[in-house]
Amino acid sequence: MIAAAQPPIPLAVIGGYLGAGKTTMINAMLANPRGRHVTVLVNDFGSINIDAALIRERSDDVIGLENGCVCCTIGGKLVETLLEISARETRPDLLVIEASGVSDPVRIAQVGMLDRAFRLQGIVVAVDADRIEETLADPYIGDIARRQIEGATAIALTKTDLLNDEKARTVRSHVLEFAHTRIVFEADQGKVPDGLFFSDDALPRERIGSRQYAASTHLPANLRSFTFRSRACFERQQLKAACATFSSRLLRAKGFVRLENGECAEIHVVGDRVHIVRCRERQISESVIVLIGLFEQVDMAFAIDALASAARNPESLS
Ligand SMILES: [Zn+2]
Repeated sequence: MIAAAQPPIPLAVIGGYLGAGKTTMINAMLANPRGRHVTVLVNDFGSINIDAALIRERSDDVIGLENGCVCCTIGGKLVETLLEISARETRPDLLVIEASGVSDPVRIAQVGMLDRAFRLQGIVVAVDADRIEETLADPYIGDIARRQIEGATAIALTKTDLLNDEKARTVRSHVLEFAHTRIVFEADQGKVPDGLFFSDDALPRERIGSRQYAASTHLPANLRSFTFRSRACFERQQLKAACATFSSRLLRAKGFVRLENGECAEIHVVGDRVHIVRCRERQISESVIVLIGLFEQVDMAFAIDALASAARNPESLS
């Protein structure tokens, strides 16, 4: 077989800062893939790939790339995985790469374009309209979020339901001040226009730019991730209260927790928003929470203590 005879696989990179709603957007697309076979690559900065687990509920062709930022520390693994996908006997109709919340999606697109087996469908960047101003103003991580928006070929504003119309307009015009695209839309429940994923138009290669990277990483030195595990159960309010005690260092937490009645729930923490949502179809024997933040060792120990003391019956069950 001559690989070059096959048409290139459309590649969509989904970027956006931690907690902006990338996974929700991908799951909304997978709910109606219009008969196409979609392969999803999910990069998670943490060592446990929670997003990949959430997407696997919708698709059986999900590949996790965890434990680092795919555009720097585990870049080689991305290249290998792309080669494996392009060499498949039956290639996907679309490859979606979910960048980690700290990755630069342009870097990922550039890696993808090194391989002629792919063509760029677009770089869609999710922007949490409720939190983006605060994120951009942060001296440590503001630059990461800004680069993501600059590199977007389309921007999906999420969580606009939390804002009034005037605030939503202000956020939109601020984002447009430095975005290089004019394509901005509101992603209600993660829904984006079909054409972003499924269209026959490829973006010209020049569109992803020729940004040069001198350093091997673009991340702050104290950006760390760790995992809390416990076989004990949580009561919702106590778990929320525990998260609040270390929220100043925390950028994102996500995972699956056991509730007191033995049920499983998803937990999502973004800034001071803590969501605990029951997931009936999932059975777990232990709680697993991945935390990402600007942590020193002492902060990680503090957070683990806070979570451990919020958990019920740790001795009898572990
Ligand atoms: Zn990176």
